[in-house]
Amino acid sequence: MKELEDRIREQGIVRAGNVLKVDSFLNHQCDPQLFASMAEEWKKRFAGKQIDKVLTIEASGIGIAAIVAEKLGVPFVFAKKTESINLDGEQYRTQVFSFTKKKTYDVIVAKRFINEGEHVLLIDDFLASGKAILGLLDLCKQAGAVVEGIGIAIEKSFQEGGELLRSRGYNVQSLARIAAMDDQTGEVKFVED
Ligand code: 5GP
Repeated sequence: MKELEDRIREQGIVRAGNVLKVDSFLNHQCDPQLFASMAEEWKKRFAGKQIDKVLTIEASGIGIAAIVAEKLGVPFVFAKKTESINLDGEQYRTQVFSFTKKKTYDVIVAKRFINEGEHVLLIDDFLASGKAILGLLDLCKQAGAVVEGIGIAIEKSFQEGGELLRSRGYNVQSLARIAAMDDQTGEVKFVED
């Protein structure tokens, strides 16, 4: 999606350790007009699919998921990260290793918010190693929900997550796919569509 790629070229900052900072428009200060264009694009790419609910993971996915859900006319749920939890049996739980924070979180969602047979669209800001999405897939599996697709804003295609998910048959739609980035020059190269 050209609009997102242009913003990454203009405002993205490449950090050491394969981290792209996009906090001026995507995940700290947020541009809702850009999110609306992104949501429109996903709506086209997932046209014809039954989607009952959008599921994301806190914190960075929340703003994007809200606008996608509004566009699709469905609710959205965000899985919560927590360091220690009291399991009361009312929650599905999984573990996710955070690529940026380099630590493992328990991630939970209340059982009453993902239901058996519900068709879910997963949304997140980045796809790197795939751990965050694998966590959401696990929560959906526990609930017996059907994952209709995965919408990612920025996929770092040089990391393994995209290939892993596509090889398992998931419909992954990433709006910007980064082929390579260089923290010395700041250059970002995109996968040619
Ligand atoms: P994964 O679980 O696929 O390894 O990483 C995805 C998660 O890590 C996303 O939820 C995102 O918050 C964070 N993340 C991964 N790579 C980057 C990056 O390059 N920049 C930023 N800002 N977040 C990232």
